[in-house]
Amino acid sequence: MSTEGSLSGLPVVWHEDCLRHDPAGEVWLGQRDAGTEVPARATAILRALTAAGATVVPPQVHDRDALLAVHDQGLVDHLATIWADWTAGGYPREYGRDRVVPYVFPTPALLAGMPPRVPAATHAQPGLYCYDTMTLIGPGSWEAIQAAADCARTAAALLIEGTSAAYALCRPPGHHAGPAGYGGSCYLNNAAIAAQALRTAGAGTVAVIDIDAHHGNGTQSIFYNRADVFYGSVHVDPAAGWFPHYLGFADETGSGAGRGWTRNIPLAPGTGDDAWLTAVGQLCARARGAEAVVLSLGVDAAAADPESPLQVTAAAYHQAGELVGRIAPVAAVQEGGYDVASLGEYVVATLRGVQSGRARASA
Ligand SMILES: [Zn+2]
Repeated sequence: MSTEGSLSGLPVVWHEDCLRHDPAGEVWLGQRDAGTEVPARATAILRALTAAGATVVPPQVHDRDALLAVHDQGLVDHLATIWADWTAGGYPREYGRDRVVPYVFPTPALLAGMPPRVPAATHAQPGLYCYDTMTLIGPGSWEAIQAAADCARTAAALLIEGTSAAYALCRPPGHHAGPAGYGGSCYLNNAAIAAQALRTAGAGTVAVIDIDAHHGNGTQSIFYNRADVFYGSVHVDPAAGWFPHYLGFADETGSGAGRGWTRNIPLAPGTGDDAWLTAVGQLCARARGAEAVVLSLGVDAAAADPESPLQVTAAAYHQAGELVGRIAPVAAVQEGGYDVASLGEYVVATLRGVQSGRARASA
């Protein structure tokens, strides 16, 4: 197996607005921490891809319809306006709350069967859409959220035009964002936006293969009832105490028409290359026949990553990319990956694998 070779010809879709999102940390267990979803992640990946010979292309700007194809209007409007409302309400200046953070959540326990209303107070509104306290919004967040979605949508457009593989350097990531809610450092679901664009353009079925170390609960929720987009994920077992805690179990397999169109393979903490690659292979076998693949490319399964206990090497990510590349044309979308020192190497290795798999598929 070779992980060498140039990435020449592989379009990397990127916009500098993705750096404007500065969540200034996260509130975890009631304390503000520095957080790991930082702009340096994107610049490290961009540097590695450029050094490997990839071609950087700008995204096309898409209208709201591309977002509303997978998200509720309320969520999109909230993300677009809450920072302006927050500052107009004086929260940073008068109360020292320099980022948008929810504090009350309309859980089933609170509502007791009553429908949720949109609360009057600005500070009560984030909890209607944001399901955790880690996913803050500040100046520049909406510009980055839109740019990331545009990058993913553009990678899909490149496939529609006949490109065999493309990569969207999305920041913030997206796979924890569902139809009507955000969390897990994700705001809009970039991978789902790409998958839906491919379906709308005529791809018969689309497979989303999610190799981020965490379950992509948002992507699963968006396609859970559908029999046109397969969602397959390998991730650290939520039953072992890992985010997103409530979703990502093996018995979640889709519902209604979508029964059998979701496949979760949870792995024990500490799992390394062999079992991880076996799981990726199982997802790819199930995805065979799809006309396009969206690869939710989180590299936080890396051994050095601070956010997950999986122990996967860059060589295994290369092999995973090759397995995915053999299925169909691939739009890879950046998800997590928080070890800034190594994530560029992992992304490059995976994309080289994708190119190798595509070459074999067309040979
Ligand atoms: Zn992750």
